[in-house]
Amino acid sequence: MVKSNKLIWLLFASLSIQSVSAQQKLTANAGHSHNDYKQQIPLLAAYYAGMGSIEADVFYRNGELYVAHESSEIKPGKTLKKLYIEPLIAFFKENGNRPYADPSQKLQLVIDIKENYEQVLSNLLENLKGYEAVFDQQKNPSAIKIVISGNIPPVEKFNHYPQFIYFDGRPEKDYSPEQLKRIGMISQSIAHYSVWNGKGTPTPPDLEKMKTVIDKAHKMGKPFRFWATKDSPNSWKELAHMGVDWINTDQPTALKNFYLNNAKVEYSNPQSYSPYIPNYKSDGATTNIKNVILLIGDGMGLAQIQAGLSANFGQSNIINMQHIGFSRTEASNSDFTDSAAGGTAIATGHKTNNRYIGVDENGKLIASIPDTLASHGIKSGIISSGDITDATPAAFYAHQMDRTMSQEIAADFLHSHVDILVGSHQESFLKNKNGKLMQKLNEKGYQLQTTLSDFEKATSGKQLVLLADSATRKVLDGRGDMLKTSLLKTIQLLSKNKHGFFIMAEGAQIDYGGHANDLSYVVTEQHDFDRLVGEALKFADQDGETLVIVTADHETGGLSLLDANYRKGSVRGNFSSDDHTNIMVPVFAYGPGSQHFIGVYNNTEIFKKILKAYRLN
Ligand code: MG
Ligand code: ZN
Repeated sequence: MVKSNKLIWLLFASLSIQSVSAQQKLTANAGHSHNDYKQQIPLLAAYYAGMGSIEADVFYRNGELYVAHESSEIKPGKTLKKLYIEPLIAFFKENGNRPYADPSQKLQLVIDIKENYEQVLSNLLENLKGYEAVFDQQKNPSAIKIVISGNIPPVEKFNHYPQFIYFDGRPEKDYSPEQLKRIGMISQSIAHYSVWNGKGTPTPPDLEKMKTVIDKAHKMGKPFRFWATKDSPNSWKELAHMGVDWINTDQPTALKNFYLNNAKVEYSNPQSYSPYIPNYKSDGATTNIKNVILLIGDGMGLAQIQAGLSANFGQSNIINMQHIGFSRTEASNSDFTDSAAGGTAIATGHKTNNRYIGVDENGKLIASIPDTLASHGIKSGIISSGDITDATPAAFYAHQMDRTMSQEIAADFLHSHVDILVGSHQESFLKNKNGKLMQKLNEKGYQLQTTLSDFEKATSGKQLVLLADSATRKVLDGRGDMLKTSLLKTIQLLSKNKHGFFIMAEGAQIDYGGHANDLSYVVTEQHDFDRLVGEALKFADQDGETLVIVTADHETGGLSLLDANYRKGSVRGNFSSDDHTNIMVPVFAYGPGSQHFIGVYNNTEIFKKILKAYRLN
């Protein structure tokens, strides 16, 4: 029964995915520049934003067409010919007989006739004489389409005008097949269907009405536009969900920017994963612990967790952890921490300056968790899905006043008490300026492994697993199970130690995705990290003496979520920064002692709580 339910659910999920991908993806070329002549630079602002539809209101006066919304606004020189027709003809020629340089971008000029269509149209045709190739799609499929709106002729007079003149239709009108050929688009005011204010979503009955009218236009084979819509990102997004073809806007540049990074701010998950369901037997127990697994999602704030949750169809491992606190991430010299000061605070219990690794504000060395635990016989493993000399892992074994000193950081490993180190950036070690570093590490008993499969064959001893940089490429580029494999092997080796172990494993690249303002990057890395959480919880359940802590050093990207649908596994985000923010980050804990992680505290408390869990302070 459970199995068949799951099958049905998976089928449902895959159908939902199909409908997401089938849904049209709008670009700035779906923008309709409403009242365009009111822009600071008429035509050009909309044109350079790549709008596919540009609208000018016109009046006929003394043999000329003037662009203006009211007759009182008519000004000498502000003619349709000068402001729109001549520049468009020039662009068309410049682009090799198409409106835009990009052949996929179309353009229509919507002429909204305020009064007296007969005079306006006859004057317009005179203006266009000799330029039919620019405006006639039968002569050139790339031609700029002329669509007449406002005070248009009655339908029975459509055929009095040349074929290249189209008209703006209304959804409630019935057109004969001949008349329909002359309809360039169907438009109506959104107020006919809803009082929706553009925030959140319309009511289901209103949404139904709006979808029905859009469907009707589509069945007539025509693109649809609402006017009088609210002009905001949420409104644009909801209109696209409904299926409109033209997004009415008075802000062409803002609309362009909204669509510009579509690929980077939207993510639809092609495949869900099932979280591990913990048994909670040891969770919150007051019994002794032997092991701690600390998982750091670099740059993983609540929005990153929520994005991962929505994109995994509403399921994740992290949300199964029930003891939750918040960590304040401020550095000593800035409220906005980097991973060096953030990692140092967690690894040593001391706040320090940004860029400092394992040293206090004065540059004095501070002992890290592995150093402290080693004197009690507890062994440590440090794992990263990135450069192992980068700030987060380095804070657990190195002491340097600048995070970029990867050679010195690698050399510091000689004096650390870490038993297993796994990550990339081999050259810091293998080509260290201290030419004897590898020999000395060998003398200290470290076995060098350069591939994950060699590491998996190891049966005992200290391991220095220095992988090729390609082993820590993005999940999107095929990193695979590097983190999971490394964690499971490290657990297997270190759990042989009768005094227990400490493992820190870092999901390094959630942060990289945040810096790159790339939501697909963030979510796929967050999913990889969340799967690691599932493995840690599974081990904690089997072992019964393991505390699992999941947190972040800081949030990256100032991520907020504009749209999400956990039923479809889709999410749309908005980054407000390409750097770290100081928003407090969650701390999730599971296992014996996890109850001590609730509350709001400084990141340095994580260090203290870990030692307390081992009953060492
Ligand atoms: Mg990091
Ligand atoms: Zn960062």
